[in-house]
Order: sequence, then C-alpha cells, then structure tokens
Amino acid sequence: MAIAPEVIHDIALSVPGVVNCHDIASRGVLGRQVFIEMHLIVDAPDVETAHRITEEVERRLEERFNPVRILIHVEPPTYQSNQITF
Ligand SMILES: [Zn+2]
Repeated sequence: MAIAPEVIHDIALSVPGVVNCHDIASRGVLGRQVFIEMHLIVDAPDVETAHRITEEVERRLEERFNPVRILIHVEPPTYQSNQITF
C-alpha cells in the first residue's frame, strides 16, 4: 500500500456525483510511480456523466499523487448498500 485508502476515499468523495467508493488499492513509490485501483459508485444518468465524474476523480488524484496511473471500476448507486468498506 502506497497511500492510505482513507486519503484516496476522501479525495474521491470530494467530487460531485460520487456516492461512495471501496476496494481501494495502491502500490508503488510516492513521487516516483504510484498505481491506484478503486471501485467508484457514481450517481449519473448516463455513461457520459459517469465518465466525466470518473475523470474528475482521476484529475484530483493526479494533482495530488503524480506520477500516478489510475484504474477506476464504475458502479451504479444500487451497489452501495452491501459495499460500505474501504
Ligand atoms: Zn465494487
């Protein structure tokens, strides 16, 4: 783990449209190359909106942890109830 999941969680949830996130993983060396994976629950009416929200999450993570590669798995709000952990 390169970054505390709570920190990634907080950044993701600062983006409008993000409902929650979980299964956060990171590896690598901060300041050199970090990889982040996460599941992101978004409240979006269509794929375009979900994509825009995801890109904003990526932008904020890049701003904080660059150089970083990010893989985000997007889920609808109906997934929220049984997936509440980091
Ligand atoms: Zn998930």
